[in-house]
Amino acid sequence: MFSDIFTTLPFACALFVALFGVFVLVKGKGSVMNQLLFGFCLSMFFWMFGTFMMFYHGAQDVATAIFWDRFVYIGVIFMPPLMHHFSIFFSKITGQKKILALNYSVAVLFLLMSRSPLFVDGLYVYSWGAHSQAQILHHVFLLYFFIGTGLFFFNLYRLYKNARTKKKSRQVVLVFLAFAVVIFGGGSAFLYAYGIDTHSPFAYFSGFVFPILLFYAVSKYNFLDVRVIATEMLVGVTLFVFTLDVFLSKSILEIVLRTIMVCFIAIISALLIKSVYGQIQKKEQVARLAKSLEKANMRLRVLDRQKTEFLSIAAHQLRTPLSIIKGYLELIKDQAYGKVEKKLAHVLTDMEESNERLVKLVDEFLNISHIEQGRTKYFFEETDMNHVISSVVDEIEDKAKKKKIKIHWKPKKNIGLVYVDEDKIRNVIFNFVDNGIKYTMKGSVTITFTQKDDGVVIRIKDTGIGFDKQDEASLFTKFYRGKNVEGVNVNGTGLGIYVCRQFVSAHGGYVWGKSFGPEKGSEFGFWIPKKRTHAHSVTEQRTITKEQKIVNQYSTRKKSS
Ligand code: ADP
Repeated sequence: MFSDIFTTLPFACALFVALFGVFVLVKGKGSVMNQLLFGFCLSMFFWMFGTFMMFYHGAQDVATAIFWDRFVYIGVIFMPPLMHHFSIFFSKITGQKKILALNYSVAVLFLLMSRSPLFVDGLYVYSWGAHSQAQILHHVFLLYFFIGTGLFFFNLYRLYKNARTKKKSRQVVLVFLAFAVVIFGGGSAFLYAYGIDTHSPFAYFSGFVFPILLFYAVSKYNFLDVRVIATEMLVGVTLFVFTLDVFLSKSILEIVLRTIMVCFIAIISALLIKSVYGQIQKKEQVARLAKSLEKANMRLRVLDRQKTEFLSIAAHQLRTPLSIIKGYLELIKDQAYGKVEKKLAHVLTDMEESNERLVKLVDEFLNISHIEQGRTKYFFEETDMNHVISSVVDEIEDKAKKKKIKIHWKPKKNIGLVYVDEDKIRNVIFNFVDNGIKYTMKGSVTITFTQKDDGVVIRIKDTGIGFDKQDEASLFTKFYRGKNVEGVNVNGTGLGIYVCRQFVSAHGGYVWGKSFGPEKGSEFGFWIPKKRTHAHSVTEQRTITKEQKIVNQYSTRKKSS
């Protein structure tokens, strides 16, 4: 028998790797990957345990030592196919079945050959151990060993190259390293078969390093629950050592005390394992929930996109006929197709108003869908805001007059030009003024234009229905219609000021809406910078139909006359 420490090392490694293998198998619940890992651990066990027995008998009993070295080869011979098999499952590779079958067949062949003296013969005894001596078939086996295990490293290398996440590639590297330690570090044991003494027992340390590295790798990959295995292994080893202690007791008192100790440790261990299980189950539940939430979220996003697309298509299809109807209504009202009775004129006015509401609705839908699809195009230019506000007032004055609401507006001099997309900012002002008229039953709407910091402020104050703090918090939200409009007979969609906010934000500005409370009027307004650096210079293109052309020509003629 050789020095105790060198003989004990392979024994300890054999135990360690065997324990790891059994736990992997038990935890695997029929998983092929776990069975393969168990198989590999078993191979390592044969190697380590056989080595221990060989060292134990050593030079004193050469025949028995060689017997145990052949035992070692039972494990070593099956390492290449087992590793190859494992890599196929781990990498989810298809199309290597035949090579794998060949790998196993060659291993079986070498198993048979390993019994012959042409494989190993004689014993090489060195400073701290012994090894059978390699013969001709062993040289061939060595070649096979590195080719067979090379397939594993090749598959893992491919997996590493195709890994999508950093986490995954790190796991692959760890698994790669764990096996590399066994094959290249442990492989140094082959040198003894050729009479080379490495003077270091590193080969057998691989029995410790392999499970530890693999542990770490799988804990990240989650194909084994490493925390449970780790706890159970710890508990198993502790119980084993303490139970051994009971058998080594020299008196009854010692037996009783140590048995009580074992029972105590067993209870604590059971509680520990239970709590680890509980934690893992909770974590898994949370992970499952998070996954299903993520799925639901994805589905909602898809639905939302589809809704926006539908909205966009529907609005586009409606826009053209609506503007044509509007044009023809104007033509009829202006008696371009003959005299119009007073009674009919009323009906036409109603039709125009309804049509106008529809146009506004469709425009809002179009704006929304463009905003949500990120397709809104802005065309910025130096603009006279006094002119824009005045044009809004001109357009909306009739509506205000009908409700007997006065619009106060005085252009402000010396402010200069503002860099805006005129259409969009006009739309914003129009919406705020229109709302002011819509939500005011009597009184006035006042528009002010001032300069503030590096920008301009436009305020639209009314003496209308106002709103409370709760409404204030939700204004500018898509489809939000306030509590204040519940009793009021005014149509709306809750989209207008939401669009306003988007347009103003695109100008690098901000909006607000405030009120002193219900029935105390409101103020809506916005601030935008006077200058802008990132200008968009793209205009929207629209196809004009034949009918639309007639209507457009008529409107132009009407304006110029
Ligand atoms: P709509 O007017 O079509 O409902 P808007 O987006 O223009 O949609 O306005 C959203 C909500 O903000 C309105 O439903 C209303 O509750 C409130 N609101 C907007 N402007 C005013 C205003 N001038 N006075 C009182 N409430 C207003």
